[in-house]
Amino acid sequence: MAQLTGKTAVVTGATSGIGLAAARRLADEGATVFIAGRRKPKLDAAAIHVGPNAIPVQTDVSDLDDLDRLYTAVRQHGKGIDVLFANAGGGEFATLEQVTEQHFDRTFGINVRGTLFTVQKSVPLLNEGASIILTSSTAASTGGAAFGVYAASKAAIRSFARTWATELKDRGVRVNAISPGPVDTPGLTGLAPTADQAGALKDFLAGTVPLGRMGRPDEIAAAVLFLASSQSSFVTGSELMVDGGQNQV
Ligand code: NAD
Repeated sequence: MAQLTGKTAVVTGATSGIGLAAARRLADEGATVFIAGRRKPKLDAAAIHVGPNAIPVQTDVSDLDDLDRLYTAVRQHGKGIDVLFANAGGGEFATLEQVTEQHFDRTFGINVRGTLFTVQKSVPLLNEGASIILTSSTAASTGGAAFGVYAASKAAIRSFARTWATELKDRGVRVNAISPGPVDTPGLTGLAPTADQAGALKDFLAGTVPLGRMGRPDEIAAAVLFLASSQSSFVTGSELMVDGGQNQV
């Protein structure tokens, strides 16, 4: 039986990888899903993939006017927000000595600032009992070679989840972070400059996971559905690791 019939969800970074899989899963469970992504052609393709329950809104989460436009569209829909998956994010390799101001500003601009204002601007529209899910990463605790700025930005996300769970508890709103281990997505393989190097990166990352492989976007989407639904009604301020055991080593 569908778990989210009649509910309204918002998913950012919904045109690719984890966000796309989650948007599809939430829509398959009966939710109307506002899918937010930066590029129109990818957004149109994502809307087809997610299906008739998708409402695409072109949104760059680092642009506050775009976020206002997204939530204006949600307000006009007239049903509030039951699920917010603030997932847009990404990173680039750079060692401590390679990091530039631009690299830092880009990474924190999307992952930290983008997540903060995505959630802040949703607050007036949140329904009683809404669930907010933020995308952190196992990198927040494991660090990662040449991935320090990204890892730090994702540590901020865990911290946000704990703080906002407290701040929003009186409205019955739950806030949790999900921390994927390495997941086979265009965002991750795109970190490698060539297809051969992408293959080597995937082999390396699979070797860091006790289950011996990378995760699939649909496996993260299943965890998002758990946190989005009433199945997780007593879970808030927590971090759900979906990482093949990577955080255990
Ligand atoms: P992806 O590149 O396939 O998808 C990321 C999506 O976010 C894309 O649709 C991209 O266009 C969008 N996005 C990026 N910047 C944006 C912005 N400013 N405004 C709106 N949309 C924006 O990558 P993914 O692997 O699916 O990543 C999804 C999330 O999961 C990210 O937050 C990422 O950091 C996190 N994550 C990924 C992994 C992994 O191994 N793939 C592991 C841990 C955490």
